[in-house]
Amino acid sequence: MESKMLVDLDEITKRIIKICNKKSSRRCFIQVPEGLTHLAHELSRRIIMEGVEGIVSVDPCFGACDIPYWKAKELGCDLIIHIGHAPMPTIKIPFDVEFIEVFYEVKVREDLIEELSKKILSMGFKSVGLVTTVQYLKLLAYVRTLLEKHGLKVFIGKSSGRALYDGQVLGCNVSSAKSISEKVDAYIFIGDGTFHPVAVYLAIGKPVLAFNPITGEIKDVRDLGERVLRVRLAHMMKASEARSFSVVVTSKVGQYNEELLRTVVNALKKFNREYSIIHLENIGEVLNYMKNVDVFVIIGCPRIVYDDYLKFKRPIITGTELLLSLSRKFKDWKFMEMP
Ligand code: SF4
Repeated sequence: MESKMLVDLDEITKRIIKICNKKSSRRCFIQVPEGLTHLAHELSRRIIMEGVEGIVSVDPCFGACDIPYWKAKELGCDLIIHIGHAPMPTIKIPFDVEFIEVFYEVKVREDLIEELSKKILSMGFKSVGLVTTVQYLKLLAYVRTLLEKHGLKVFIGKSSGRALYDGQVLGCNVSSAKSISEKVDAYIFIGDGTFHPVAVYLAIGKPVLAFNPITGEIKDVRDLGERVLRVRLAHMMKASEARSFSVVVTSKVGQYNEELLRTVVNALKKFNREYSIIHLENIGEVLNYMKNVDVFVIIGCPRIVYDDYLKFKRPIITGTELLLSLSRKFKDWKFMEMP
């Protein structure tokens, strides 16, 4: 088995310089994913040597929802280059932004796909939907062909909203999986980790197997998803009894939602609850220092609430969960899909 990034440092540097030349950029703000921060110094140095002031940002960045154009402006940059994620069609950024997607070139062993097919068939599934992240998109067609060879019906759905490519899923958008939900018995996620496949399970409720194309590991994520649902219910029930709420807003361009903030504030007023509005760019443990708060309501990435709740000493809920909690409609819980 082999795995390598299609874009290495030399290629990234060349592509950045090409974009900067085309755009006549003199100073460029470059966002790199966590996996490339160790190369930030080298990347900036090489770009500067080519005559462009490349300022590489190593602030944490978890997606194309997080493009801090105001920082680039403040630093006198005329262009942002975002590396690692696909653009989000629904997010309008009032700044010149270019994307360099990073794909993994993985040669998947045929015997691993055979094992995967056996597992799927042994679970009684005959038709499956394939989903992945942008990094593994190039594998979809190949895996589909092999699964079909082993007798499975395979579907790849159409994305909409902030997801750009067919079959692509984000932690907050599984539109491609939803578009084929009537046709499939289960989903196969190709990639690493459980962050994305759990989103598919939470949004649709059908079985999801996470298949790591490098190690061949297959993980059924239903238990993980059920645990998230149990925690959501517990936090919403506590919120329904609570008096004092802190509404936490982030200013990340693809996470802040003014309409949801207004709806949340109006609901808190209507149900006669105390509230504050707090801004925090990267929502984290600093909230634990705040006194006199019963519950935090996050107007930002819903996965902070679903996945990181253990970091917080008090219940933490999304804006939509707050609305359900106040009206005690716990059973209406839905995965918070971001448009
Ligand atoms: S909002 Fe959260 S889950 Fe969605 S793309 Fe941004 S970081 Fe990922």
